[in-house]
Amino acid sequence: MRFFLNAQGRKLIQEGGRVIGAILDQTKKGYSIKIRTRRGVILACGDFSASEALKQRYFTPDFAKIPPYNPHSQGEGHAMGVEVGGRLG
Ligand SMILES: Cc1cc2nc3c(=O)[nH]c(=O)nc-3n(C[C@H](O)[C@H](O)[C@H](O)COP(=O)(O)OP(=O)(O)OC[C@H]3O[C@@H](n4cnc5c(N)ncnc54)[C@H](O)[C@@H]3O)c2cc1C
Repeated sequence: MRFFLNAQGRKLIQEGGRVIGAILDQTKKGYSIKIRTRRGVILACGDFSASEALKQRYFTPDFAKIPPYNPHSQGEGHAMGVEVGGRLG
C-alpha cells in the first residue's frame, strides 16, 4: 500500500462507466498525480459541515448557520461522487 501525504482528492476517473482511479493534487509540490486503482475508490473526505452551499441545499436554513468544527469538511468527496453520477439525498 502506498500513502500520498498532503494530497487532495480532486476528481474521480471513469472508464467504461466505472470509477477506476482518481486525480490528486500534491498541494505542497504544486502538481497533480493520476492514480489507477484495481478495485475502486473509497471516498473518505468526511462530511460537508463547512460547505454553506451544501448545507443550505440539504438542511434547514437554521442548521446551515451552525459553524463547522472542521473547516476542511467542504464536501469534496460528495462533489466528486456527484460528478460521476452519484446522488445525495
Ligand atoms: C466535536 C465532535 C465530537 C465528536 N465526538 C464523537 C464521539 O465521541 N464519538 C463518535 O463516535 N463520533 C464523534 N464525532 C463524530 C466523528 O468525529 C465523525 O463521525 C468521524 O470523524 C467521521 O470520520 P470520517 O473519516 O468519515 O471523516 P473525518 O474524520 O472528517 O475525516 C475526513 C478527512 O478527509 C480530509 N479531506 C477532506 N477533503 C479531502 C480531499 N478532497 N482530499 C483528501 N482529503 C480530504 C479531511 O481533512 C479529513 O482529515 C465527533 C465529531 C465532532 C465534530
